[in-house]
Order: sequence, then structure tokens, then C-alpha cells
Amino acid sequence: MLEKILTELTNSDTTLVAVSKTKPVSQILEMYHKGQRIFGENRVQELAQKYEELPKDIEWHMIGHLQRNKVKYIAPFVGMIHSVESIQLLEEINKQARKHDRVIPCLLQFKIATEDSKHGLQRSEIIPYLSSSAFKDLEHVRIVGVMGMATFTDDILQVRNEFKQLKTIFNQLKTEVFAEAASFREISMGMSGDYAIAIEEGSTMVRIGSLLFGNRNYN
Ligand SMILES: *Cc1c(COP(=O)(O)O)cnc(C)c1O
Repeated sequence: MLEKILTELTNSDTTLVAVSKTKPVSQILEMYHKGQRIFGENRVQELAQKYEELPKDIEWHMIGHLQRNKVKYIAPFVGMIHSVESIQLLEEINKQARKHDRVIPCLLQFKIATEDSKHGLQRSEIIPYLSSSAFKDLEHVRIVGVMGMATFTDDILQVRNEFKQLKTIFNQLKTEVFAEAASFREISMGMSGDYAIAIEEGSTMVRIGSLLFGNRNYN
């Protein structure tokens, strides 16, 4: 499965984040030995523990809801945080990254789904902030793009429209705020069920779990 997905992604120049949440280190190592180096997790404790146990050239991405008081546990090593959904969280990431003299790449998460359970920033709140001096003072975070999750539905047209929305948000930020920043280039969208649509709509990073590792068992 990994090989098949990687071939599809190579053709479209999209990065694969292998979502390994709930999966044992043995399964991650198996994929590591096939060459995969970027893995995504959504819980701080699990992420920190897997970081300890696995090879240090793995790039760990935090993709799930992140509480401010837990940023400190991943700040020493995390490779990217996809789930920046508030200004306060961004400022906390900056504060913790400074302690380790690091610059942490971050994605701004926007709510594109209709489900209430999905988190995200509002453009009306974040765009003025990104133009402020408070934001320019954050030297230990780098905003490298946007992230979003589509509604969990069989309605392909709705999913496609939500991905289009995220691409529009990306384009707006690129022109209005990050025109000079070459590092602002990522659109993290697409999961096991909808990654093909996401790629058609301009995804640069897909987060795929169950398709690679099999279904998750939360018991
Ligand atoms: C679990 C998860 C994924 C992967 O989901 P699959 O459907 O298993 O591919 C992607 N993104 C986020 C934020 C997740 O929590």
C-alpha cells in the first residue's frame, strides 16, 4: 500500500505524512525501513513516547488538537505542528521553542467542515494579527502554510468545495501576508478517504493513516 500511495504522490509532488496514531512502534519501524521518514500523531504523550523509542531521523508532525499546557513536551523535537487553531497557542509554541533555541514550522488550521467537532481559526481574526508587530516578534515559529479537514461525508462535491475553500484561504494569505515568504507553501489536506480529491484541489501534504496501517482500534 505504501508503495502504491507513494507513486501517486510522487507524480503530484505531494508529501506523505504517515499517520501512526494508536499503532505500535513495530509497525512504524516497518514503514521506516521502507523509507518513510515523516510520521503524524495526534496525542502529545503518545508522540513523545514514540519519539523516545524510535530512530532520531524521523520527522514527527503533530496533527491533532494541542492544549497549550502540553506544548512543552513536544517543543524539543517536533518537526511540524499542523494544528495551530488559536493565537494563544501560536504564542505558546513560540515561547517553548525559544527555550530550546528552535524555530518550529507551523500550519494554521482553518475550519472548512460543517461539523462542529472540527477546530480552526477564523480569517477575520488571524489576518489582522499576522500583520501586527506582536506576530513579527515571534522569532521561534515559522508559518509554512495551512491545514484543514473536510467533512466526513460521502458527498464528494461537498468535500471538493471544502478543499477549494482551504486553497482560497491559502491564496489570500499568500498574497496579503506572505508574498515575500518562500517558506509559506504548504496546504495540508487529504486523509485516507479523500486524499485523491485533495491532491486534485492542490494539496501539498496528505495525512494518511488507516489506508497505510489498517483500521484503528481505540479499545
Ligand atoms: C487520524 C487523522 C488523520 C488520518 O486519518 P485516516 O482517515 O486514518 O487517514 C489525518 N488527519 C488528522 C488530523 C487525524 O487526526
